Amino acid sequence: MAERVLKAIDQDEVIAFLQELVRVPSINPPGDVREAIRLCAEKLASAGFTTNTVGATAEQVNVIGTLAGLATGPRLAFNAHVDVVPIGEEAAWSHPPFGAEIANGRVYGRGAGDDKASVTAQVMAGVALARSGVPLEGALIVTTVADEETGGLLGAGYIVREGHVAADFVIVGEQTMNQICVAERGAVGVIVKVFGVTGHAAAPWEGVNAIEGMARVITALREELWPLLAKRTHRYLPASTATISMISGGVKTNVIPDSCEIYVDRRISVGETEESVTAEIRMLAERAVAAVAGLRIEVTPKVSRMAHESDPDSLVGRALQEATRFLGKEPVLTGFFAGTDAKHFAPNGWPTLVVGPGQPSTAHTPDEWVGIDEVLEATRLYALTALALLARRDGATNE
Ligand SMILES: [Zn+2]
Repeated sequence: MAERVLKAIDQDEVIAFLQELVRVPSINPPGDVREAIRLCAEKLASAGFTTNTVGATAEQVNVIGTLAGLATGPRLAFNAHVDVVPIGEEAAWSHPPFGAEIANGRVYGRGAGDDKASVTAQVMAGVALARSGVPLEGALIVTTVADEETGGLLGAGYIVREGHVAADFVIVGEQTMNQICVAERGAVGVIVKVFGVTGHAAAPWEGVNAIEGMARVITALREELWPLLAKRTHRYLPASTATISMISGGVKTNVIPDSCEIYVDRRISVGETEESVTAEIRMLAERAVAAVAGLRIEVTPKVSRMAHESDPDSLVGRALQEATRFLGKEPVLTGFFAGTDAKHFAPNGWPTLVVGPGQPSTAHTPDEWVGIDEVLEATRLYALTALALLARRDGATNE
């Protein structure tokens, strides 16, 4: 059956579809992805999927394509996004950003890798599975979405929140060079404010300087928190980190500043939470200014997304590993350095792995590209994984 499904993959059609998608400039912001979603819906429908296009806005739409088997079988969801980041300075590109030119065995263009290569491989894997006619026990649900590049609340977040998709396993396509990512870091933004007492700058003893107070906080974070985070390691993820990425304070050149604020971009590992991260920073900051009367600290979390980890030996993890071996490669288990739409699926308890074609280092850069071989390999990988998880086991055939 594996051969039957692989034979149903038309390589030229796969690459032509990728080019067609890259030629649609679905830049986010503003995030209008109607045309790219229409192409995906049409391709899926033409192979026998039922499709449902939904969205919180008219422009930021998502398609859920379902290839249903018996109602009792498991549900495997694919997910990838069609929105792309802006192109930056066009002069920096040697291939036109929406030309989808082919050179050196690569397709070039904005979104070629991030994330239209994954979209293409998932849609075409679904199409191949449908065309192969292999009878299914479970359902394959191909979700192609908007808004990933601005957080995904209108894309993957929307379709999960509104109940448009439910699954037993999820494969999110992002640039992993077809390695299997079983974990992903989360992020918490923490705003630290120091309040002092204002006064005339000519009489500094009359006030309490909030900027000087913040200097104590920053020193404490660097000397106490940074080394602590470096020790918070994880099998598949880089250690936890924090970056002070913004600072503001003071009101006028000749006034003692009574407030100062920093933004701490805290990347978190599995097990860390918004509460634990906020409490840790609050404790250090309060201690740092405790010796100065008149200083007060306020710490508030701003945005957060959880880190998550899925079992590589779950059914979907094993199916991906076996499919990789079937294609002649030893599977590599790893973690994803940044965030993906997996964050919208994993909290439901659905094992969610991130696998897709493309090099992460080319995403969001001029002359973004993806290797044609990698796109075809991903298409085979997704198709074989879906087959392993969803094919009927009672020997029924359509032949
Ligand atoms: Zn992406």
